[in-house]
Amino acid sequence: MRILLVDDSTVMRKILTRSITQAGFAVDEFLEASDGMQGMEVLNKEGKVDLILSDWNMPIMDGLEFVEEVRAGSDEINSIPIIMVTTEGGDAKVAESVAAGANGHVKKPFTTDDLQNALGKFLS
Ligand SMILES: [Mg+2]
Repeated sequence: MRILLVDDSTVMRKILTRSITQAGFAVDEFLEASDGMQGMEVLNKEGKVDLILSDWNMPIMDGLEFVEEVRAGSDEINSIPIIMVTTEGGDAKVAESVAAGANGHVKKPFTTDDLQNALGKFLS
């Protein structure tokens, strides 16, 4: 199982890696990108991953635009589940990301339980 983490914070990517592992998910490989543009590059190079976790606020290409790009991408990548991990937790923002094609939402700061609940149905 492979997960792509897209966040402009190196620390946040480390925290996510550790928390997902602590939550008990058997991840073989964490791929990382620091913005949506880099995320698309990773996907186009690496192909299918099982799940994408994406921040919202990032330079160059933000999380919302990234979701739109993935959904408009090749058959190999356009149906990958995407969970937004962000401080942008308002209802309108969540609705906007869902409309763009996001499949879930985790609000920062999160607990291991929050991750278990949000990721469980995609990583069985
Ligand atoms: Mg950010």
